[in-house]
Amino acid sequence: MKYSAARLLWEGLTGHKGWGRTWRDPEPKTHYDVVIIGGGGHGLATAHYLAKVYGIRNVAVLEKGWIGGGNVGRNTTIVRSNYLLDGNEPFYEFSMKLWENLEQDLNYNAMVSQRGIMNLIHSDAQRDAFRRRGNAMMLHGAGAELLDAEQVRKEVPFLNFDNARFPIKGALVQRRGGTVRHDAVAWGYARGADQNGVDIIQNCEVTGFKIENGKVLGVETSRGYIGAGKVGVAVAGNSSKVMAKAGMRLPIESHVLQAFVSEGLKPTIPGVITFGAGHFYVSQSDKGGLVFGGDIDGYNTYAQRGNMPVVEDVAEGGMAIMPMIGRARLLRMWGGIMDMSMDGSPYIDKTHIDGLFFNGGWCYGGFKATPASGYAFAHLLATGSPHETATAYRLDRFKTGKMIDEKGVGAQPNLH
Ligand SMILES: Cc1cc2nc3c(=O)[nH]c(=O)nc-3n(C[C@H](O)[C@H](O)[C@H](O)COP(=O)(O)OP(=O)(O)OC[C@H]3O[C@@H](n4cnc5c(N)ncnc54)[C@H](O)[C@@H]3O)c2cc1C
Repeated sequence: MKYSAARLLWEGLTGHKGWGRTWRDPEPKTHYDVVIIGGGGHGLATAHYLAKVYGIRNVAVLEKGWIGGGNVGRNTTIVRSNYLLDGNEPFYEFSMKLWENLEQDLNYNAMVSQRGIMNLIHSDAQRDAFRRRGNAMMLHGAGAELLDAEQVRKEVPFLNFDNARFPIKGALVQRRGGTVRHDAVAWGYARGADQNGVDIIQNCEVTGFKIENGKVLGVETSRGYIGAGKVGVAVAGNSSKVMAKAGMRLPIESHVLQAFVSEGLKPTIPGVITFGAGHFYVSQSDKGGLVFGGDIDGYNTYAQRGNMPVVEDVAEGGMAIMPMIGRARLLRMWGGIMDMSMDGSPYIDKTHIDGLFFNGGWCYGGFKATPASGYAFAHLLATGSPHETATAYRLDRFKTGKMIDEKGVGAQPNLH
């Protein structure tokens, strides 16, 4: 079924009886050309592009829970392509271009909203760093503006300019950045993949791999054995656990990141604002809630819920930069498990096991990468070679010394 204004009008007039299922609920087959493990944004996008762009349609996405139950439905919905390094910026700009055409591509309303992202500047050194970053962005066609303090004040007068511990000295702005309704992205990609013949199988946990003579032959699941020509793993915070079943140890640590939503307010914040000096970022959802977050919880965990010290830290960050947030009531909060890589950049790569491919290490930033990650992973699975924008995301880069240390803070996940 094609979604359109005419269809909506027709269904409105006829009691909404004609809407079909958004995707099928098939029984798993005994064998697929490609099995994708993980029905998050990245796994579903991979399946969509495999079928649509590369013509590989005998594909299954195996999800242990439900579509959108992982980080794709838990993030703070921010998309941007404001990176500095060559290994990253072309990839994230490719992603931004895919976001800009996503709703047409999927025929699905993902509420892509390019309301702009503003990274606040608090010191002369930070201004220099952001000027360099802005120049790199412009070289790749991403667009960037450097604002002084007065220009920032005009756009967001409610910030703490006058009594702040970290006075605002300006901002780096990307007008094309913004937000996208996160779970609609999962649903849209699921629908797109399903329409091209991909089987999306929920409540199907992968419990092991069948590997013989260095080649992967299939996966053991809670719904039985499924054979596969190739297997792509895109399980985000569960990466280390799943790849351990194939005997691999990854340069990844799992940490919790929390998100918060306030009660609905009248339109207050025009776009996304980030406060690097205290680590706090905030935007406003279309329902009016302030959506915000801060640091990861400091220790390793697979628990999908956060802890109070970080709640306090995020609240302090919010109060420091935007004191009026203290008047808003917190509606809800939740946690998601982050696959933190050692240099803050992701992996999209083959493994030493023939036919087994890995996508992960997305840290805080994998939502904005969803379209490009899916596209590049589909390219790798289909052709065996990396997509031109993802050549740097190698698993062996710590051995070869080719780290992509975007923030220049070294190999410590809690710093990225
Ligand atoms: C609170 C929070 C805020 C964030 N904010 C942002 C943001 O503003 N912008 C941004 O760019 N990024 C953000 N991120 C990061 C982003 O959400 C993730 O990097 C990205 O969603 C990860 O990829 P995914 O969507 O495929 O993951 P997921 O949705 O987690 O998908 C992985 C799936 O694999 C499944 N799985 C795991 N093990 C198995 C198994 N054995 N068998 C079968 N299935 C399995 C899981 O159930 C899960 O559904 C945030 C994350 C969190 C938690």
